[in-house]
Amino acid sequence: MRKFVYRFDEGRKEMKFLLGGKGANLAEMTRIGLPVPPGFTISTDACKDYNEHHGHLSEDILREVMLHLAHLEKASGKRFGSTENPLLVSVRSGAPVSMPGMMDTILNLGLNEKSVQGMIHATGDARSSLDSYRRFIQMFGDVVFGIPSYHFEQALVAIKKEAGCQSDTDLQPTDLEKLIERYLDIFLTESGRDFPQDPKEQLMLAITAVFDSWMNPRAVIYRRLHEIDASYGTAVNIQTMVFGNTGETSGTGIAFTRNPSTGEKEVFGEFLLNAQGEDVVAGIRTPVELSQLRTQMPEVYEELMTTCALLEDHYQDMQDIEFTIEKEQLYILQTRNGKRTTKAAIQVAVDLVHEGKISTEEAIMRIAPNELDQLLHPAFHVDALASSSVLATGLPASPGAATGMIYFDAASAVKAAEMGSKVILVRSETSPEDIEGMAKSEAILTARGGMTSHAAVVARGMGKCCVVGCADILIDEQEKAIRTKSGHILHEGDQISLDGTTGQVYGEELPLTEAELFPAFDEWMEWVNEAKRLHIRVNADTPADLQTALHFGAEGIGLCRTEHMFFHEERIPFVRQMIIAENIREREDALEKLKQMQKEDFCALFRIADGRPINIRLLDPPLHEFLPKETGEIEKLSQASGKTVTEIRRRLTELAETNPMLGHRGCRLAVTYPEIYKMQAEAIMESAMEIHDEGIPVQPEIMIPLVATQAELALIKNEIKTTIQQIFEKERLILPFDIGTMIETPRACIVADQIAQDAQFFSFGTNDLTQLTFGFSRDDAGKFLPSYEKLALISRDPFVSIDQDGVGALVELGTVRGRMTQPNIKIGVCGEHGGDPASIHFFHKIGLHYVSCSPFRVPIARLAAAQASLLEHRSMETV
Ligand code: PEP
Ligand code: MG
Repeated sequence: MRKFVYRFDEGRKEMKFLLGGKGANLAEMTRIGLPVPPGFTISTDACKDYNEHHGHLSEDILREVMLHLAHLEKASGKRFGSTENPLLVSVRSGAPVSMPGMMDTILNLGLNEKSVQGMIHATGDARSSLDSYRRFIQMFGDVVFGIPSYHFEQALVAIKKEAGCQSDTDLQPTDLEKLIERYLDIFLTESGRDFPQDPKEQLMLAITAVFDSWMNPRAVIYRRLHEIDASYGTAVNIQTMVFGNTGETSGTGIAFTRNPSTGEKEVFGEFLLNAQGEDVVAGIRTPVELSQLRTQMPEVYEELMTTCALLEDHYQDMQDIEFTIEKEQLYILQTRNGKRTTKAAIQVAVDLVHEGKISTEEAIMRIAPNELDQLLHPAFHVDALASSSVLATGLPASPGAATGMIYFDAASAVKAAEMGSKVILVRSETSPEDIEGMAKSEAILTARGGMTSHAAVVARGMGKCCVVGCADILIDEQEKAIRTKSGHILHEGDQISLDGTTGQVYGEELPLTEAELFPAFDEWMEWVNEAKRLHIRVNADTPADLQTALHFGAEGIGLCRTEHMFFHEERIPFVRQMIIAENIREREDALEKLKQMQKEDFCALFRIADGRPINIRLLDPPLHEFLPKETGEIEKLSQASGKTVTEIRRRLTELAETNPMLGHRGCRLAVTYPEIYKMQAEAIMESAMEIHDEGIPVQPEIMIPLVATQAELALIKNEIKTTIQQIFEKERLILPFDIGTMIETPRACIVADQIAQDAQFFSFGTNDLTQLTFGFSRDDAGKFLPSYEKLALISRDPFVSIDQDGVGALVELGTVRGRMTQPNIKIGVCGEHGGDPASIHFFHKIGLHYVSCSPFRVPIARLAAAQASLLEHRSMETV
């Protein structure tokens, strides 16, 4: 016969899938002899059985519960519903995985009109007995019958007013009797039935309420968001009540075995005298620091400290402990691994390694990669966030938090920033012309665009907070105003705050806490480095980005987007002249000027990289992206180039494309204008030689984008090689270099064996590969992907986390086929997926050499790569 119910002394901490986290830990604490009030756990198997029987408790479960209840009565010497010495229990849910706030607790179950008299009789304390009963009616009404708590709160406030009391604890028994009458009336009016007086009926109703709450909409959404398996079910814990509300030698509180904000080794917590559990959480009375317990009840304090040390030792992790003191007797009601900030998590993990309690591998596995964002970027003060309301929500494109005045064009943003203001640039979407404005702003907000749009990619590169695709706002760039769906209007100069980690926008200035690194982080990162197999490079095109990334441990550049180097205000005119050139001489003139600028950039990067590989991608985007759109800009270009406005407008029309993403970009530019890549190849190799002459080693990799056929790659590669050969001959010096290609079209993956004949390396451009495989536009996916996610048509945004079945399969195919031709071909990834932990696990599994990501994601990628490696070793050990 199946067993559904377990006494606390029958379980162990390892049984959390059967007993839930709370139940397994209650069992473990009982097993090691801690003062846990006796009780039993109705297992998750019972929850599954209940759901299989469409919300019906089977006879077997009912019988087992009654048997265990009888056992509890015997052990405690109390009886359920007794008029002399009643047994009261708490009923608490406990799923295998923590689901905070999802399910509820009922205390004091077993009280009714008669047993409350029994409790008064047994304890001699009318006030606390009646107080327990009124709390029970409220909780039971709320949790089991869904009666909103405010009905009860209003009655409590009214009675305190009538009795002239400040605090709940000042209410006298006669006041409480009156309050109970009112609570029972509320219960009847709101639920349509009398309050159940039979304790067994109370218990069954409470158990089914916990099981039902597993399927309530809040729980379903939470599980979906946190990828928790819905089949787990929840357990129910029935435990003998102990009372913290029986006077000044009783109380209740929580203790963390270490400081959950800093990780410091000190017991940290708070408690309330003469109170029950929910008083601490509800915030009605303000708890005091745990240290005060030392003076009030020194022996209990010492016992609590010893218990904290013992539990931490036992679980080998920081514990969050719930306790109750009943007449100077300490009881432990719960222990679990404590929630903590990332800083505390790393500090605790490093300290536990030093204390010899856990291994370095365990210390690496304990921190989720994305948690590191909290350390690397500023964040809003938790208290400020709690009291402010969200104006709009967009896509969380680049993490961090920022606050500042809004400006609607790059020039105004730059001007305001130069006057000393903190500025947030707000655009429908950004374009290369906005770069300076973006650089000078604290953060960027766009109404359109997805996770790989221009704003998202550039902001991530800059390590700047950014929210994109914010469909909740309408931007009127003419009127310089934002209109929100909720009817708010914000004008230029108004203050807003952006949270790039959640995508939320606030209509006010919020205080920030700055990011800070600390010694334990460096030590921990060393362990991370030793554990990983994948190399981590950075997507960087400026010396500052590269420097940041090297500081975070990047091993080279995996993608330098050369078009980003053209975005500066002083360079754009020459790029524009190159594009509108009518003949090769005009174009070569402009290219010569650009070459000098590119050389300066490349020299700076080679110098900082100091021998690490630098992968430089030749020009990729459609040329018309660089051209002016507004009349003023067109006139400026006319003056600089000597062409008429009409001539320029004609050229703009000639260059415009219906579908630029699939158009004249990437290597296709080099097919039509070979002189562009020729100039770039010269700039790269001449810079490499200059830096080599300075005595600094160089490792250039030249990368050709958007290749689909071997023939186009061969043509371009040979042209570049000839150009470089000429430089070598002229300079009488030969430097090693590699020429390779991005693999970012599905065709390139399929014919990777052919392409590998002309490439020394592959770098998967998973942004374009995702776009082209799904046929989802990178820039417009924000319009429909949220609906896909809502309807569970996709589990995650494929531009954020690699679609392993489709895009991932193409990456694997390309890798296998590339290696058929060249077994040792160097293979990496430089799309945004290179910084996503789940994608990194996949790239590790298929055996790539490196991933490349934006500077601030480098530590996250290092950690994800280390965890992928450790998990692989673990699974090999268990085979
Ligand atoms: C890519 O397509 O994945 C890539 C890295 O190139 P870009 O984002 O510049 O198109
Ligand atoms: Mg690309």
